[in-house]
Amino acid sequence: DNGLLAGKRGLIMGVANNRSIAWGIAKACADAGAEIALTYQGDAFRKRVEPLATELGAYIAGDCDVTDMDSVDAVFANIEAKWGKIDFLVHAIAFSDKDELDGRYIDTTRDNFLRSMDISVYSFTAVAQRAEKLMTDGGSMLTLTYYGAEKVMPHYNVMGVAKAALEASVRYLAVDVGGNGIRVNAISAGPIKTLAASGIGDFRYILKWNEYNAPLKKTVSIEEVGNSALYLLSHLSNGVTGEVHHVDAGYHVVGMKSVDAPDI
Ligand code: NAD
Repeated sequence: DNGLLAGKRGLIMGVANNRSIAWGIAKACADAGAEIALTYQGDAFRKRVEPLATELGAYIAGDCDVTDMDSVDAVFANIEAKWGKIDFLVHAIAFSDKDELDGRYIDTTRDNFLRSMDISVYSFTAVAQRAEKLMTDGGSMLTLTYYGAEKVMPHYNVMGVAKAALEASVRYLAVDVGGNGIRVNAISAGPIKTLAASGIGDFRYILKWNEYNAPLKKTVSIEEVGNSALYLLSHLSNGVTGEVHHVDAGYHVVGMKSVDAPDI
């Protein structure tokens, strides 16, 4: 327990299982002394999230599907009733039909485009709107993005377009709430084998490519993302907002394949 978040309370959305990035963040926050609330998406995930919540002594704020605004409102009503206020919010939620995380972006359907933007972009604004009201002593909001927002990555397709919009919304939100002492940032994580990532075509190849070509010659873990999240959620980053912070073993600085990377 490093005490960085002692006395702080936060809502973490997006734990599906113990491989989720949100779980890495939740563990780091709990270790730092925070009280945590979690949500889960539908009954299928309840069974996985309940034991994880118990492990951290976390409060389960409810079943939340971000396409259903009543379920989002219910979660915030539960948190307000329990705690009155919160200090931080983590949004680790994204979705695209996996049939469109393969092949060409140009083939994206309108239905999947709108659904991906709704779940992966608008939902952060929707929860920020509600969290702002509970951050009466200031606070920190964090979302998760990927390099596919900045550069074309194989098969990332509509999700890259969604992450670009998500990163822009981080900047707009940062201006909207900055006057109330609330900060809004994103972590751009390197590829990690999670449930969501398993939907991306050739993901194993992408992991290997990153391992061989990132400056640190490895991929990142959910614990490493958790530790960087702790910085952005705690007072250590009080001067930082509107930022997209790369936690990717340095991959984003590289302009060319490493000359000594093996063929994969
Ligand atoms: P994950 O599958 O563990 O988490 C994704 C979460 O999104 C799940 O908890 C799922 O329940 C939730 N979700 C999807 N649709 C939802 C909906 N309609 N309502 C509520 N929740 C919904 O995978 P992850 O990789 O930990 O993903 C977390 C975040 O990190 C995502 O935004 C993802 O894009 C981002 N990210 C992942 C990687 C990676 O390589 N894994 C890299 C960079 C960024």
